[in-house]
Parts: sequence; structure tokens; C-alpha cells
Amino acid sequence: MAARILDGRAMAARWREWVKAQVEAFRARTGQVPGLATVLIGDHPASLTYVQAKQSACAAVGIRTFRYDLPADVERETVLELLGTLARNPEVHGILIQLPLPSHLDEEEILSAIPLEKDVDGFHPLNIGRLGLKGRDPYFIPCTPLGILAMLQEARIPIAGRRAVILGRSRIVGLPMALLLLRLDATVTICHSRTPDLGALTRQADLLIAAAGRPGLIRGEMVRPGAVVIDVGINRVEDPQVPRGYRLVGDVVFEEVSAVAAALTPVPGGVGPMTVAMLLVNTLKAAQRQVEGSASPWLEPIEG
Ligand code: NAD
Repeated sequence: MAARILDGRAMAARWREWVKAQVEAFRARTGQVPGLATVLIGDHPASLTYVQAKQSACAAVGIRTFRYDLPADVERETVLELLGTLARNPEVHGILIQLPLPSHLDEEEILSAIPLEKDVDGFHPLNIGRLGLKGRDPYFIPCTPLGILAMLQEARIPIAGRRAVILGRSRIVGLPMALLLLRLDATVTICHSRTPDLGALTRQADLLIAAAGRPGLIRGEMVRPGAVVIDVGINRVEDPQVPRGYRLVGDVVFEEVSAVAAALTPVPGGVGPMTVAMLLVNTLKAAQRQVEGSASPWLEPIEG
């Protein structure tokens, strides 16, 4: 039986509508609008595209943006000074630093300079730590894991008691995803580049999350029939048939896995749009908390 395809574009569109209405209600209540500052260091083409996409997504729902593009050789002190200014600016409720940073900057130091309550990417070491501790709430959950959770909830896919296998242990996706699922009572296995016999582990998964950035990694025979497969990977593969010379694929061999899995996210059009939608959700919550003292719960039930 063919897998149910989880349409991230349609889900993200519904979330954007929800955020837009919430932003409008917030403005009516407080006379303010949520504000997001983006900090881009260097001119890496993919990072530039991501920042532009985030800026226009904010504009479309009424979130104000402040953009700071700094040269690749910017001094550490200049970045820390900018972050200090943004931390004190009451019109800036969220601060996002596009990763990766140039190698002369210490990621830990830079991310730690964002105040916890403005850390809408959820990458501050304390936010990640709190995510892993039961009974402690992080201020923010990183946008990609949060987007995946929203997709699972909307598709009514249960998590508690299920066996989740995650490929990847990065700060952005794999590790926070594992901590989030653990928090939600899944039994979690984390695989990475040094894990031997990947297939033996992936075949045990009720929920398989591939975030390795390796095209073609997950073949049909590595998936348990009836599993739910979330493909986070975004990989460029050469394709002379298309004008731009490449196409985007995930980590999963779509044709094979869609014949085995119960549900699957496509690439593009799966997790990617939901990641951006969750940045809007996090920025809205940041503004609600800073201005009104409380925010709506992590995920609102939405129709669909
Ligand atoms: P990363 O390079 O920081 O981490 C990759 C992880 O995969 C590492 O932990 C590594 O150990 C693991 N890995 C590498 N090869 C492996 C293998 N053969 N088997 C098992 N594990 C392996 O990358 P990242 O930032 O976590 O991103 C991962 C992928 O997800 C990339 O393709 C990236 O473009 C994509 N991504 C997508 C979104 C989205 O919104 N859809 C967001 C962030 C990242």
C-alpha cells in the first residue's frame, strides 16, 4: 500500500494563517507588533536564501523584521555588541543568527549572547539543556523539531511508547528532536555517522527521522512496513534535465520508501515549510511573553 504523503506546504499555510490572525489580535490588544531580528554573517548563498525566506515569511504575517548582514571577517566584539543592542531593544522580541558561523567565531559564545527569552531558534545551550530535562520547560523548541512535532500531531500519529530512530545528532535537528521525543515518552535511538549497521536499527523504528544530509541513505528495505518516515534532509543532486542544473532531494529514496511506509514527508514540500512556519510561531510567542507576560501553549490544535 502506498504511504500517506504528509503535505508540509498545506500544513504550513494553515499555520501561517493562524499566526497572522494571532499577530493581528496581539496588535489590537497591545498596540505593538512582534519583531524578529536576523543576523547573517558572510555571504554563503544557502544562508542568504534562508534569511530572505524567513524575512518574507515574517512580512506576510505582519511580523516586523530587522535585518543585519555582517561581513564574513566581522570581529567577535562587533557581533557581541550588536547582540547586546538587540537584547535591549524592546521592539525586537526574537533574535536569529543564521548558522553556520565563520570559523573564527565561537558558536557557543555567540549563541549564548542571545537572551533566553529572545532565542526563537532555541539554540541557546540553556534552552537545549532544558529541553532534555523533564519538568523544565525551554523558552523555545528549535523550529525543525517543533515543525515535525506539529506535523505528527496534525496527522494524529502517536508518539508515546513508540520506538523512534533518529539519524543525525546536530544541534539544529537530530539532538533536539531526540530530546523532544524523549520528553514525549518515545523510546529513542540516535544514529550518526559512526553507527554501524544502520539498517538493523532503522528497521526497528515506528517513527524514523532522517536528518543526516545524505541523499539516498534510506532505502525501502531499511524501513519497517507501516512505519512513519520523516525526511528532513535537503540535498542538492546534479540534474542536467532541469535549467538550474540540480534538484533537491531528501535522505530517503522516495519511490522505495513510499511503497513500504504508512506515512512519509516529501522533499521538497515536507519539513522545510514547517520549519519556517514554526519560526513565526516562536516569534509570536516571544512577543506575547515579553509584552503580555504569557504565551499560548506550544502547539495550538488547528483544523485539518
Ligand atoms: P549536520 O551536518 O550538522 O549533521 C548531520 C548529522 O548526520 C551528523 O550528526 C552526522 O553524524 C549524521 N550522519 C552523517 N552521515 C550519516 C550516516 N551515513 N548515517 C547516520 N548518520 C549520519 O546537518 P544538520 O544541520 O543536522 O542537517 C541535516 C540535514 O537536514 C541536511 O540535509 C540539512 O540540509 C537538512 N535540514 C533541513 C531542515 C528543514 O527545515 N527541512 C532544517 C535543517 C536542516
